[in-house]
Amino acid sequence: MTLPLVNPLLAIRHLRKSYAIPEGGRHLVVAVDHFDLAAGAEVGLRGESGSGKTTLLNLIAGILTPDAGTITLAEQPISALPEAARDRLRARTLGYIFQTFNLLPGYTCLENVLLGMSFGPGPDRAHAVGLLRRMGLEQRLNYYPRQLSTGQQQRVAVARALANRPRLVLADEPTGNLDHRNAAEALALIREICREHGAALLFVSHDREVLAQFPHVADLAQLRPPETIAGQPEGRA
Ligand code: ADP
Ligand code: MG
Repeated sequence: MTLPLVNPLLAIRHLRKSYAIPEGGRHLVVAVDHFDLAAGAEVGLRGESGSGKTTLLNLIAGILTPDAGTITLAEQPISALPEAARDRLRARTLGYIFQTFNLLPGYTCLENVLLGMSFGPGPDRAHAVGLLRRMGLEQRLNYYPRQLSTGQQQRVAVARALANRPRLVLADEPTGNLDHRNAAEALALIREICREHGAALLFVSHDREVLAQFPHVADLAQLRPPETIAGQPEGRA
């Protein structure tokens, strides 16, 4: 992780993201000077609750724009692209398992996965059904998210994230709402499919037990440059 990579799949440089706080001034939520992820790598990213994990993933996905710094994904500057190009790059390159799943409530399991595909290479029903079957959801293809348990919804979200055969999978505490057994199974399945597709996996969690299963774990607090650790909300960051 500390050696510079040649053409990393993901490269973050001098990244800063702050939010205005109600009392005035700004709170610097993300400060990462240097982070590289190689193609096919499996990395856990640890951070306490509120430490900026979700914000960082949203920056990588181009859902949020940084105050400063660059994020390069598959050799393209996602943080600097115009919106349409950013959406295309995201659809082609990224699978994002959101912390809150973000399934569309008016669509069935299968439709949720097919819709995700329509922004990428196009809907492939056989592939979508195959993935959902693998997630143990073959009897639930036509169920709506509200008709599913949390664990089942989470598996639909995983299938949707993996459906476009992304080069990078971002997973935001996807096992956080699951019991121990379901969490272990979900993690194993995510890793297995990422490996099969040669996808890199950046798996964010605050759970040391979950992260202990990763060969590499980075710590968000340790990625933070010392001069940005004020502890308190900053002035204009
Ligand atoms: P984590 O995922 O590590 O729990 P988040 O990235 O969700 O942390 O949030 C990090 C910090 O940023 C929190 O203190 C949160 O209150 C703040 N934050 C997140 N989103 C916003 C926002 N849209 N506006 C203001 N503050 C925000
Ligand atoms: Mg979060």
